[in-house]
Amino acid sequence: MVPCYNEEESIPLFFDAVEKVVHQMEPTIEYWFINDGSRDRSLSEMRKIHSQNSDRVHYVSFSRNFGKEAALYAGLRSANGDYVVVMDADLQDPPEYLPEMYKLIISGEYDCVGTRRTDRKGEAKLKSFLSDKFYDVINKISDVKIVNGARDYRMMTRQMVNAVLSLTEYNRFSKGIFNWVGFKTKYIPYKNVERVAGTTDWSTWKLFKYAFNGIIDFSEAPLSIATWFGGFSAFVSIIGLIVVIIRHFVEPGSSAFGWASLVCIMLLLGGIQLMCLGIVGRYVGKIYMQSKHRPVYIVKEKK
Ligand code: UDP
Ligand code: MG
Repeated sequence: MVPCYNEEESIPLFFDAVEKVVHQMEPTIEYWFINDGSRDRSLSEMRKIHSQNSDRVHYVSFSRNFGKEAALYAGLRSANGDYVVVMDADLQDPPEYLPEMYKLIISGEYDCVGTRRTDRKGEAKLKSFLSDKFYDVINKISDVKIVNGARDYRMMTRQMVNAVLSLTEYNRFSKGIFNWVGFKTKYIPYKNVERVAGTTDWSTWKLFKYAFNGIIDFSEAPLSIATWFGGFSAFVSIIGLIVVIIRHFVEPGSSAFGWASLVCIMLLLGGIQLMCLGIVGRYVGKIYMQSKHRPVYIVKEKK
């Protein structure tokens, strides 16, 4: 299954490249292209490929852009095979690995064969740095362990796919979900490949928000920040109070000083309080969205 957002140039290249590889493989392949509300001619490309290979090429087209997570979910729900592969349309997930992945998975030893980038060539320094930090943080504060550089490119057994689908949450963070469901995963390392065509839709800021949401979806640690800050400042203020009382007796009349420092402390505490409130607000927002029970995506056309 392939999520596609504005991939008109990549789709035919992708199809040809995969066809070349699966040609030599024995299992029958079914393609599911998910058109995530593309504004270019991606849908026509899918229709074209479907009309030429209607027995095995299918597509689902959304009514608008719902994001890659929604597209992944739709793809996993549509796929019928015993094994399901998630691949990007831009050929950054090299199809040459498919035979190896298939061999590993049918050996029965693994439930999932994933891929991991060993470098981030062609990517901005800041982006790589933030990505590394994200993996450090989420692995420290959350129960799920996410492998640094793991891509969504993976082959899963039907059993694992069903497990992933049994998580019906609205805020989907697949990197976390794939790990949360457990099962034995083997990662194949490979060197980063650049897109064949088109441009990525992920700006550093979008990626940052995605990472932040992932942390909130998979950890309750940010919620305890307020408790820690609260405890710490209460402790400091008790010490301060003791100092002030002692000064009052040792040097009568000298305890009222430092207007500027007082303002700074008030601002600091006010800021921390607002920040903690904001974090709580993020969780409340997630609960709010979940409680609406909205569908993750809306299908306009399916073939
Ligand atoms: N994608 C999608 N919906 C979106 C954004 C991206 O379905 O809103 C698809 C995109 O077409 C591609 C895959 O997700 O097949 C990965 O996107 P991209 O190559 O931009 O990200 P990167 O490779 O940098 O992770
Ligand atoms: Mg890509």
